[in-house]
Amino acid sequence: MIPGPGAEIKLGSIVVLKKGHPCGENKWEIVRFGVDCKIKCLGCGRIVLIDRLELKKAVKKILEVPASAGTDQENH
Ligand SMILES: [Zn+2]
Repeated sequence: MIPGPGAEIKLGSIVVLKKGHPCGENKWEIVRFGVDCKIKCLGCGRIVLIDRLELKKAVKKILEVPASAGTDQENH
């Protein structure tokens, strides 16, 4: 799913940060989204802990957001 304007950062989103990882990649997956967030570098797989407010400030662009809110897996 391609996010439109106003897309929100949430669990599972793929984002580009203002500052990339030293490995050369600058795409990150949100693997935890709470007061503290964890983002995973898609280049090397390294997980970085970041404060939620810092994350919001650091995000330059949201590339992808998860298609579902995660509740439809319980429809059976
Ligand atoms: Zn990396």
